[in-house]
Amino acid sequence: MTQNTVEKTSVTLLGLGAMGTALARTWLAAGHPLTVWNRTPARATPLAAEGAKVADSAVEAVAVNSLVVVCLLDDASVQDALADADLAGRDLVNLTTGTPAQARERAEWTRERGARYLYGGIMAVPPMIGVPDSGGYVFYSGSPELFERHRDTLAVPAGTVYVGRDAGFAALHDVALLSAMYGMFAGAAHAFALIRKEDIDPASFAPLLADWLVAMAPAVHRTADQLRGGDYTRGVVSTLAMQVAGTPAFLSTAEQQGVSPELVSPYFELMRRRLAEGGGEEDLTGVIDLLVR
Ligand code: NDP
Repeated sequence: MTQNTVEKTSVTLLGLGAMGTALARTWLAAGHPLTVWNRTPARATPLAAEGAKVADSAVEAVAVNSLVVVCLLDDASVQDALADADLAGRDLVNLTTGTPAQARERAEWTRERGARYLYGGIMAVPPMIGVPDSGGYVFYSGSPELFERHRDTLAVPAGTVYVGRDAGFAALHDVALLSAMYGMFAGAAHAFALIRKEDIDPASFAPLLADWLVAMAPAVHRTADQLRGGDYTRGVVSTLAMQVAGTPAFLSTAEQQGVSPELVSPYFELMRRRLAEGGGEEDLTGVIDLLVR
């Protein structure tokens, strides 16, 4: 059989918002028979013209295919949409953003209704969906059998990264990475604020900032190595004591530039606390322990 004649898995997709519509288009373009449902029916009209079957209700859409993908606003909307659906024997893939606890509760709820469950945390925005090499991917966790069975179909819209049997893990990875992203944005906001009133072109400053962040990012591998081994001095490049000694200069510069230190001060405070506990020869890794205590 050539690739063109291999039968493509039929997919039911509930939810045609910005993300759901992007997902739908990639499955249609790849030749997967697709049945869609959306609470507001008008959003399905363009997809019908592109070859999707449109179900009148979520119940009907779920009845058509064994692989059911849900991409709705939030966990409450998943509960609403699937309230009357017969999930027995279905493979439910939930791509609706939620907390790890919601993902686990929904997994239990799905199991009680006789279905297998996989949760997906989407690390992409709609324009990245279906674009090879866009860098977008989806974290999956939950039933490993379900993941293996549908891996190729799930890989059509975006890359797949399976992170474990615990249905909450994909959501946890998703939130962890996005939280780190906001920390990076917070640092960048502080940096731009420092130059804001000066005769420095933000457009000239931006590439310097971006390159610096990229150069510093691999430090997370050293952090992981230290967390695994339990020795936070292992491979240390800049000791905590040295770094804490530098923080008054950062805070004074902020004051002189008329910039609030509110984004960076909490981190500096944690560094000082760890130093006070005797972590001077360590890397910055001890801050993590202060957070989880
Ligand atoms: P949209 O706001 O564009 O669409 C929301 C969808 O949820 C619509 O189909 C809407 O239906 C439906 N919906 C809302 N409430 C209910 C309900 N009570 N019952 C049934 N359907 C309901 O969101 P997106 O498509 O952008 O996002 C979908 C999921 O993907 C979210 O969980 C989001 O966090 C996640 N995601 C989105 C990203 C993005 O950049 N857009 C990035 C990563 C993840 P209706 O048309 O009737 O309003």
